[in-house]
Amino acid sequence: MEPNTYDYIVVGAGSAGAVLANRLSASGEHRVLCLEAGTEGSNYLWSRIPIGVAKLIDNPAVNWCYSSEPDDGSGQRRIEVPRGKMLGGSSSINGMVFVRGQAQDYDHWAQLGNRGWSYQDVLPVFKKMESYEGGSDEFRGRDGLLKVTDSKKLSPFYDLMIQAAVKIGIKHNPDYNGADQDGIAMTQATINKGRRQSTAYCYLDPARSRPNLTIETGAMAASLIMEGKTCVGVRYSVRGEAREARAAREVVVSGGSINSPKLLELSGIGQPELLQQHGVDLVHELPGVGENLRDHYSPRVKYAITKKNVSFNDMGHGWRIVREGIKYVFSRKGFLSITSVPIRMYIRTREGLESPDATISVMPFLVERVDRERKLAKERGLTMNINVLRSDSRGSIHIKSADPAEPPAIKFNFLSSELDRTGLLAVMRKARELMATAPLSDVVGEEIAPGLDVQSDEDLLEWVRNNAETTYHPVGTCKMGNDPMAVVDDQLRVHGISGLRVADASIMPTLTSGNTNAPSIMIGEKCAAMMLAAAEAKAAA
Ligand SMILES: Cc1cc2nc3c(=O)[nH]c(=O)nc-3n(C[C@H](O)[C@H](O)[C@H](O)COP(=O)(O)OP(=O)(O)OC[C@H]3O[C@@H](n4cnc5c(N)ncnc54)[C@H](O)[C@@H]3O)c2cc1C
Repeated sequence: MEPNTYDYIVVGAGSAGAVLANRLSASGEHRVLCLEAGTEGSNYLWSRIPIGVAKLIDNPAVNWCYSSEPDDGSGQRRIEVPRGKMLGGSSSINGMVFVRGQAQDYDHWAQLGNRGWSYQDVLPVFKKMESYEGGSDEFRGRDGLLKVTDSKKLSPFYDLMIQAAVKIGIKHNPDYNGADQDGIAMTQATINKGRRQSTAYCYLDPARSRPNLTIETGAMAASLIMEGKTCVGVRYSVRGEAREARAAREVVVSGGSINSPKLLELSGIGQPELLQQHGVDLVHELPGVGENLRDHYSPRVKYAITKKNVSFNDMGHGWRIVREGIKYVFSRKGFLSITSVPIRMYIRTREGLESPDATISVMPFLVERVDRERKLAKERGLTMNINVLRSDSRGSIHIKSADPAEPPAIKFNFLSSELDRTGLLAVMRKARELMATAPLSDVVGEEIAPGLDVQSDEDLLEWVRNNAETTYHPVGTCKMGNDPMAVVDDQLRVHGISGLRVADASIMPTLTSGNTNAPSIMIGEKCAAMMLAAAEAKAAA
């Protein structure tokens, strides 16, 4: 083989890409190149410490720091779109919340025509990838590479919240990744012994010394090398130097929901008119590339806390933060060691639903912006992230020019669906009901945002338009399926092109009911298994 020729090339070492790099190289039989535009990263201090999220979320050294185009749903604001840019991708900068989603999410994917993606199909994959002590063996994995743990109750606040939730009909369900998602629970997190479990740490580090795996960082893929309708390699640049690598078998694009459709379009795969407009020669018409963008639009509802030592705001200043720092260094415990969203609930906004349609996740603190930096506020409080689980509003992501360095246009089109508007209103009102219920109400003070003067549907929606952020879960821009807008088939092969797959959050046809890291890792696992099975079948033929 030529020195720059590999069996497989994986573009992007994120949640899905890192898994592919590990699994494809595991047997030692295949030469694998993994190209990552970002930095080495796994030794980046803030990416190891759970509380370090605050230092990563706006940090261009390890983050693409995209933002959306202004539109009506965002009150003509630009919404920040952070994405990890280092080994581990967004799993190295995310909130570490671990949620698979509901059985119904995957059964729906199968109903859409995607064979092999029903809940019964993906459950063994979820079990294989994780190592978790709680729950039942029927649903949970015990010896996977990814360590998952429960958030600790660092104050009596969590029990107050659980008691109040139960009073308004939300059951206590310690394992929302088990038999059903319904109810309130402490958050399960990709954290072990106070260390973030990114895919860089869990999947790449154990594989790095393999002679058949090459990981190049600072390697930005600019386009795919196409010979007719076959993908044979990748053009990329390292510190401004143009390079090429060839794939004897397949290229897998795992650049995430923003960058994967961008790379396809830069390579001539997408909507003919759009490509022509930007001077990119058409290789293959696929109208779905960059369409079907979905994300969790998230109003941040804020309350004051009236009692001491309930909110992280008490622990995050003065001598207390020094105490927390010492605690973390010597015992890996305390609030520096846990996810910033330690409790959550999955709820129904109306009668008759088969499963929850909304979620409230609670950050036991208030954040303030000082310049661009996010800091713990001096006031005591809590913040609730409110989401409709399977958002129906759809937007798009498309290139703005043929220059790989130019960020794409991200159009969310939030609140364009009636279902999302009514769902958000109902769950915001449920959050108010919860906060007003004893014993939680004994420690909760004033509603800071939106504030109790904001009551009517119209006023609440106006406040959402002007203030909501996302929960950083873009999916769907290279969706899997067999309809005219599908980009990949159920083996994640790009329709009409050979030698090319996409495997990351972009292939999800619809949003899963929760955060998207666990499903993205599952997609990486499944894609690797399908590719290895295809290689074996070819060898046997
Ligand atoms: C701030 C934040 C908080 C989040 N919190 C949570 C959470 O708590 N729980 C949860 O489940 N999910 C969370 N998410 C979402 C979750 O992390 C993502 O859905 C998931 O990581 C997506 O995986 P992916 O493989 O699709 O993409 P990514 O993990 O983003 O990986 C894509 C990789 O490809 C690289 N890349 C892109 N383009 C190129 C190119 N042209 N050449 C070479 N390399 C390229 C990128 O640098 C990146 O490393 C969060 C995300 C963010 C950003």
